[in-house]
Amino acid sequence: CITIKINLCFPSIPSSLKTLSIDGHFDFEQVEHAAKDFGNRYSYLPLAVLYPKSVSDIATTVNHVWQIGGGSELKVAARGHGHSLQGQAQAHRGVVINMESLKGLKMQVHTGNFPYVDVSGGELWINILRESLKHGLAPKSWTDYLHLTVGGTLSNAGISGQAFWHGPQISNVYQLEVVTGKGEVVNCSEKQNSDLFYSVLGGLGQFGIITRARISLEPAPEMVKWIRMVYTDFATFTRDQEKLISGQSTFDYVEGFVIINRTGLLNNWRSSFNPQDPLQASQFKSDGRTLFCLELAKYFNHEDMVLVNQEIKTSLSQLNHIPSTLFISEVPYMEFLDRVHISEIKLRSRGLWEVPHPWLNLFIPKSKIHSFAQEVFGNILTDTSSGPILIYPVNKSKWDNRTSVVIPEEDVFYLVAFLSSAVPSSTGNDGLEQILIRNKRILDFCEIAGLGVKQYLPHFSTQGEWKSHFGPHWEAFIRRKSTYDPSAILAPGQRIFQKPIAYS
Ligand code: FAD
Repeated sequence: CITIKINLCFPSIPSSLKTLSIDGHFDFEQVEHAAKDFGNRYSYLPLAVLYPKSVSDIATTVNHVWQIGGGSELKVAARGHGHSLQGQAQAHRGVVINMESLKGLKMQVHTGNFPYVDVSGGELWINILRESLKHGLAPKSWTDYLHLTVGGTLSNAGISGQAFWHGPQISNVYQLEVVTGKGEVVNCSEKQNSDLFYSVLGGLGQFGIITRARISLEPAPEMVKWIRMVYTDFATFTRDQEKLISGQSTFDYVEGFVIINRTGLLNNWRSSFNPQDPLQASQFKSDGRTLFCLELAKYFNHEDMVLVNQEIKTSLSQLNHIPSTLFISEVPYMEFLDRVHISEIKLRSRGLWEVPHPWLNLFIPKSKIHSFAQEVFGNILTDTSSGPILIYPVNKSKWDNRTSVVIPEEDVFYLVAFLSSAVPSSTGNDGLEQILIRNKRILDFCEIAGLGVKQYLPHFSTQGEWKSHFGPHWEAFIRRKSTYDPSAILAPGQRIFQKPIAYS
């Protein structure tokens, strides 16, 4: 029955899209790139890619899809920079909206007591940084990698080492302009259409398309003291991390990562600091032990250098790392924030960027982090050769519980991110199949041990799994979905999140 419906409907859909009066254009031929993402594992070919020139192009298209109705099964997905992992920005036989081509809105930085920048939903964070720095300002909360769009990270949460203090990126937005599932253009904020505002933040692209965002800014520092140190004891490591994120921290950024079964530190650090580092690192013998590396950053301006050095010295003296493993470097603020891009360039040059990325990102309640670490770092994982494993705590008080993002119940929870790259055609430990097996073992353990873990950047195959992910928030999700994307029909067992605007 569905096949018949598809056969009858599809031939008319491209031609009906062609009749729309828009400033940009549809491409019905060159659509392969929209069936790819950073995860490199899922590929759904769309019927068309919309290159909008204006917000009205998006509104017209989404309204058209709404008018056709859920029966057409025409999916719509906003595509930011396509750095999703499991096809979240793809639309099987649907319309992909290429948000980066929405250049109608020029970035506008507003100075004053509460500075902010107005940006297009398809703007890359790296461009926002460059533009706001011209005014001595910068956003407060980041992701580790800046070549992602505003719409893409705000649809998830956007977290990095600043989140413990400023909250995720979704806690640092004043206002949005959204095209809803009916094709209406709506401004929303805490005060205006607040339910839509909070639905869309962390809303996985389900309630509308973010066409503009007002992002909160702060004075930008000139420089960053970038600090790393190593622990062999997990309890000491997490105790220090938790101390650092509680109260008024000296540091502006707190992260950490795990190193399993490596002989030295040398190749495991995401980048080397200065010429002495390799020497110092080579003198530290890990003897195959699992190591935990704390990563801190302190922002400063040149004129405050002496004071900042003193503050850092005092704070570090209260930590319990292995003294010989303290590495401190000084880099410009821009270089610090754009650090992962340097790794990207290196990996690209070795053909190792466009490989499958079976990433697994988990939020783990603080009370369960030790059980988790014992089993996962002590038993399930035998090495960290397939990619970095990040681990750092954040404060729930900095997350607004009105947003759509799903997080654990406890006041402090950890992000543990297994950022694996699979070596193509390998059947060994670094191959896709083995990594997926390990990921499943980790998830199964969390489930059986009842750790109350939530997935970040979630992806599930059945509605039952989504229901369990949302838990008590499921009803709110359904209500919001039917309000803002009424042509969507929820039926048991559907892969509901493959169709961000009007799924059936
Ligand atoms: P896309 O992949 O294009 O889209 C992601 C989702 O958002 C899709 O569902 C899409 O339909 C929807 N969407 C896109 N644009 C809009 C819009 N304008 N309106 C509504 N919905 C929209 N995340 C972190 O939080 N912290 C990190 O440190 C971090 N580091 C990363 C490092 C790398 C190398 C990579 C590849 C990803 C990282 N991520 C991180 C994950 C990243 O935030 C998400 O994958 C994000 O969705 C990617 O943004 P994008 O612009 O590529 O979005």
